[in-house]
Amino acid sequence: MIKVTCLGGAGTVTGSSYLIESTGGKKVLVDCGLFQGGKQMENRNWSDWGFDPGKIKALFLTHAHIDHSGRIPKLVKDGFQGKIITSPPTAELCEIMLLDSAHIQEMDAEWQTRKNRRQSKKDIFPLYTARDAEESLKFFSPVERDRIIDVEDGIRARLRNAGHILGSSILELWVNEAGKEIKVVFSGDIGKHDQLIVKDPHEIFEADYLFIESTYGNRLHRDFEESKEELLNAINHALSNKEKVIIPAFAVERTQEILYILGEFYRNGSLPDIPIYLDSPLAIKATQIFRKNKKYYDEEAMAIVKEGFDPFDMPNLRFTPTTKESMAINEGTGSAIVIAGNGMCTAGRIKHHLKHNLWRPGASLVIVGFQAIGTTGRKIIDGDKFVKIFGENLAVKAKVYTIGGFSAHADQRDLLEWVSHFAESRPRVFVVHGEPTSSETFASRIREKFHMEVHIPQWKEKLILKHKEMITGPELREERPLDVDGVFQNTIIDLEKELDRLKRRIKKSQGRFTEDDIDRLKYIREELKAIQEVA
Ligand SMILES: [Zn+2]
Repeated sequence: MIKVTCLGGAGTVTGSSYLIESTGGKKVLVDCGLFQGGKQMENRNWSDWGFDPGKIKALFLTHAHIDHSGRIPKLVKDGFQGKIITSPPTAELCEIMLLDSAHIQEMDAEWQTRKNRRQSKKDIFPLYTARDAEESLKFFSPVERDRIIDVEDGIRARLRNAGHILGSSILELWVNEAGKEIKVVFSGDIGKHDQLIVKDPHEIFEADYLFIESTYGNRLHRDFEESKEELLNAINHALSNKEKVIIPAFAVERTQEILYILGEFYRNGSLPDIPIYLDSPLAIKATQIFRKNKKYYDEEAMAIVKEGFDPFDMPNLRFTPTTKESMAINEGTGSAIVIAGNGMCTAGRIKHHLKHNLWRPGASLVIVGFQAIGTTGRKIIDGDKFVKIFGENLAVKAKVYTIGGFSAHADQRDLLEWVSHFAESRPRVFVVHGEPTSSETFASRIREKFHMEVHIPQWKEKLILKHKEMITGPELREERPLDVDGVFQNTIIDLEKELDRLKRRIKKSQGRFTEDDIDRLKYIREELKAIQEVA
């Protein structure tokens, strides 16, 4: 039997990681992502691995996104010396992503330490440093997709295109148990049908066990053509007012998709004459990696290349890697399109562009990505009239366009379509990588449609996988180390403390709520809602 421990990406969309152990004691990992979104979640990044990283022979990495790769430098720092098996573009993207992530960790720790010292509190250390990130790159061992590789005695694997971002992969894993193989498939993040740039996800038919993501397991995306139309409207709105179009975007994939769409507008003559700035050092580097890796493009992107164009270029596009170039953008008056990070408006150069443009009624702000609760981006789309940036209350006067059709994730329909190929082999399904409501909706759709047995594992849950003919109903789960009631109780204790702190602060300020207080209240409300949903 094989044992799988869900170390992350269970009950949440971040921290993806699964430990696989064979009877013979062989151990491999699938993904090693960073937990993100609030202090409680981020604390998990520091928790004990629950295994000796030095004993892991291989880590399979499905793709470069930080929620799948972001704890790799820590794993290496803690003793991992095996191979990180992934596609060549993923290895290249990780080089810039992990260094960027380390840089953020270092800056955060430094900022927190300065703050703590003023209050005579302890120094804070980063989860890992740029040096750790660089060290971890040595263990990357890129392999082309679609070929079976022998990882070690009794374990074989193959990466398949997942169609999510450049280089993203599905993992097929065969583990030999008592002379017979058990096949486990990990979907990684699955791309939507007809995703830009990358090919559609590879169809897989056979599996004994399937781990499938459910980020959008309860949602359908908006129409792509309509979304393009909306983007064009946003550009024309700002242009007619001689103002700027500000687009906060994630550096990998989303930025390149926006450039790709702008390139299409340019080639079909619908793009007005307007300067376009890519104002993010990370996104600039990522775009170069996309340009280099043409062999992974889909037919449409290749057709553009064959016509002699670069899908991510147009005559008005300028890269602005330096701070000086970035600042010059807002010194110039007149219209421009500015793409900058980060995607949720919480850090990076986008904050400067918001400071200069958000209060201008003729400007356009185009939101193209997921905005987590509590972020500036989320406040703007929720209709807040003012948001705080660099300590200043900025009026939201620009026209806000929330465009939902540019996701790199499969929606419920795409996910079900991908699962439908397993209809004959009927694997046992584990629904992972989703918020609880999304995973639950998706799980019941799989049960209804394909009559497969489906389970939604929790964080740290251990699963037992056996040969199919040996499986007997209820003993699928060996144990539930996570005591649900205990977790609820702990969360409630945390929330009580949080409320007490809040009460004390408000009393001190004689009943005045700061923006921070309102954020804490919202957090408490969300946590309570989550408990209610799970309970
Ligand atoms: Zn992803």
